[in-house]
Amino acid sequence: MRTCNILSIAGSDPSGGAGIQADLKTFSALGGYGMAVVTALTAQSTAGVAGVQEVPAEFVGSQLETLLNDARVDAVKIGMLANTGVIRAVVKALDAYELPCVVLDPVMVAKSGDRLLSPDAIDAVRTELVPRADLITPNLPEAAELLGENERHDLSSMREQAERLVELGATRVLLKGGHLSGQSSTDLLVTPDGLTETFSAERIATRNTHGTGCTLSSAIATLRPQRRNFSEAVREAKDYLTEALRHADELDAGRGKGPVHH
Ligand code: PLP
Repeated sequence: MRTCNILSIAGSDPSGGAGIQADLKTFSALGGYGMAVVTALTAQSTAGVAGVQEVPAEFVGSQLETLLNDARVDAVKIGMLANTGVIRAVVKALDAYELPCVVLDPVMVAKSGDRLLSPDAIDAVRTELVPRADLITPNLPEAAELLGENERHDLSSMREQAERLVELGATRVLLKGGHLSGQSSTDLLVTPDGLTETFSAERIATRNTHGTGCTLSSAIATLRPQRRNFSEAVREAKDYLTEALRHADELDAGRGKGPVHH
């Protein structure tokens, strides 16, 4: 079988825990061939983000055009986009090249509390990117931002929020319940036919959770072309993340909140 080409459009994390570095490790671990278009550089360690240097939108466009005029892409993972200009450059490429299997992780704020998307760009994510994605993977704070409401932390609100995210035009929504408390972590997948599937996994006790969102969305993008449907890809991607969390404490990558272990 030919190897799937998976493209990450995301920011750089020099600590190797999140962003394109995490994406590329995940693509390789799950049998994909990784490609990457960088949207922003961060100065970052396990202690947090010290600075962000956004790549000019025209140059993001140029990276995409140069790559896509040449390479076949089987799936796309979109992560940190920084600002509206970069979002527009990505939207243009999604349309021009009719890119398949687009998994959008609507990254807004890092676990360290640092902003990775300018607040005035949330509207462009909501109206221009969400409707173009085959799957969006918001956590609870990101879902609340997209819906323009306060965060709510219970499973029944999650169901209702996931359905309203579909109403925003998302083809599929994987609403991640990692911010809820409990012994397991539960995510909800709402599909175009209105069905909701629940995915639960053991909650791993570790402070080293840097890059969990990047890893999950990248794993889904890599697995989807290799599996029959999103449901199978999500189940396996979640298992992959659980194992990466289980081994996170074996790493020694800094003194702060460390990365998961690919
Ligand atoms: N840095 C970059 C470049 C990212 O893309 C992300 C998340 O998507 C983060 C940092 C934050 O990762 P976390 O919130 O898991 O610490």
